[in-house]
Amino acid sequence: MTPLATTDILISEVGPRDGLQSVKATMATADKCLWIDSLVASGLREIEVASFVPAHLLPQMADAADVVRHALKHTGMTVMALVPNLRGAEAALRAGAQKLTMPVSASAAHSMANVRKTPEAMVEEVRAVIALRDAIAPGVRVEAGVSTAFGCTLQGPVPEDDVVRLAELLAKAGADEIGLSDTTGMGNPAQTSRLFKRLFSTIGHRTGAAHMHNTRGLGLANCLAAYEAGVRTFDSSLGGLGGCPFAPGASGNVVTEDLVFMFEAMGVRTGIDLNRLMAARAPLQAGLPGEPLYGMTPEAGLPKGWTAPALVSHG
Ligand code: ZN
Repeated sequence: MTPLATTDILISEVGPRDGLQSVKATMATADKCLWIDSLVASGLREIEVASFVPAHLLPQMADAADVVRHALKHTGMTVMALVPNLRGAEAALRAGAQKLTMPVSASAAHSMANVRKTPEAMVEEVRAVIALRDAIAPGVRVEAGVSTAFGCTLQGPVPEDDVVRLAELLAKAGADEIGLSDTTGMGNPAQTSRLFKRLFSTIGHRTGAAHMHNTRGLGLANCLAAYEAGVRTFDSSLGGLGGCPFAPGASGNVVTEDLVFMFEAMGVRTGIDLNRLMAARAPLQAGLPGEPLYGMTPEAGLPKGWTAPALVSHG
């Protein structure tokens, strides 16, 4: 769903998928649903609720179809699901997912290690998913997220030309949006700005979300750089759920609460009520007792005099 006229950007909450995927404890379906309900109540309009992968590989996502069906009760919110391949896409579309996201790694080494396919073979998988979408669910948007776009723990640096070329192939394959993911938290603001500007000049309006990580503390700085380069969709997770596998004690995903605080404080309207957003940590903690959550804004509280940010004029 595109941002409403009363908002300037779209925050896409990825906690129920990206966050939960890296948590050891399995969250019960009913708890996931309560958490998603409170995320929606805060004003979030796009939530990645599940991943359609084989249950034996990822027991945490065995209830993906049930979670999608529950989330569909909410109107005015796009129910998004991650699908690694055609089989996953079929299951997600059958469950009623309204937007699909497919990860495609720019690093050949990462791609082979993760999905045993080259990036080029993954482009063909995206093409097949788009053909299926056209046939059975033409209203559903398909996003491709270029992972390891800012560097790879296996390969090291990823040439920017490779990232842009892959995005171009994905656009030609028919992906509606192509976003960039800093999977390993190696990106910096100058690089983020440069890559997104190149993306806009190569694939134009198909340029999608910035999915930045906070591994080295640059998550917000990178989001701001992406915003200034023209990006208007940002992925983040409540409480930075899942942490960072490479840096214990650090959040992996950008923390939604901090991201919303930054943009609202700047007068960039998100449509999200920060108090309600922070209240959505309670059902998350209830469903995953003891799991560490991150975020500076929830720790510090809102500053004195903080008023309904939606009323701040944007200029
Ligand atoms: Zn992530």
